[in-house]
Amino acid sequence: MTESLQNATIQPLHSLYAKDMPVDVLRLDRVHPVVSGNKWFKLKYYLADALAQQKTTIATFGGAWSNHLVAAAYAARGAGLNSIGFVRGEAGTTPSAALEDAVRYGMEIRYVNRQDFRTPALIRNRFDAPGIYWISEGGYGPNGAAGAADILRAADTSGYSHILCAVGTGTMLSGLVSAALPGQQVIGISVLKNNVGLESAVRALLPDAAASFAIHHQYHFGGYAKHPQSLIDFMNELWATEHLPTDIVYTGKLMYAAMDLIAQNHFPAGARILLVHSGGLQGNRSLPPGTLSFS
Ligand SMILES: *Cc1c(COP(=O)(O)O)cnc(C)c1O
Repeated sequence: MTESLQNATIQPLHSLYAKDMPVDVLRLDRVHPVVSGNKWFKLKYYLADALAQQKTTIATFGGAWSNHLVAAAYAARGAGLNSIGFVRGEAGTTPSAALEDAVRYGMEIRYVNRQDFRTPALIRNRFDAPGIYWISEGGYGPNGAAGAADILRAADTSGYSHILCAVGTGTMLSGLVSAALPGQQVIGISVLKNNVGLESAVRALLPDAAASFAIHHQYHFGGYAKHPQSLIDFMNELWATEHLPTDIVYTGKLMYAAMDLIAQNHFPAGARILLVHSGGLQGNRSLPPGTLSFS
């Protein structure tokens, strides 16, 4: 999988955010056109592990607009591995544009009803075979966190006091926490509503049990992938003023939360803030054309 880590540039923001505090964005969305953002980082050690174990196929899980599935399909093909995606939904539904891409990259899609999808261990038992290397939904696990730790090495991030990222499974957040320098505070913005188990899911991947991090839970805009007009308006404004593309599931909510926390004086004077743009533009493809002024 050829990537361009030198494209992971840092973009300063100007207009929507505090003028007296540097707020920069780490553009991981530019690392790879398909394996966008944090997915490239989260997958790389899984693929290396699968190859080291001489597996032939990766199998993983996701929803119809999963950035993870598209990225996994593409990355697996690049590594010479087959891929199977277990997708939440009923067989026979028209595949989303994201899943069509995954199929084009060689992924075999198998639909799983919502009830079974909640118990991935059942699916693993039913479909396991010697050549299969299983990856949890969203790449959650130690290999995913280890890959995400490399995010902070993609550019010079040593001068920031606060590092913010969007949080789904918490894998990326764990990696950032373990890679942060002493004195750097890592803050996650949860995109799910009432994800009560999230802190412990993050902590389970941290080698240092005493490591500190914070998660804000009030910026989900109604729940996972929910995108009220206020969020769409904010994302269009961000594009108009900063030329920063964001997505409705993750980075739009992160950018909004950062603006709101700054407005509430959450950060001390002298803070230098880095927002991790984790990529992932699949969710936007579910919108009617013209909803967003970009993409
Ligand atoms: C998958 C994804 C996330 C969530 O990462 P986790 O490691 O599951 O918390 C965040 N941002 C984007 C753009 C993503 O695609």
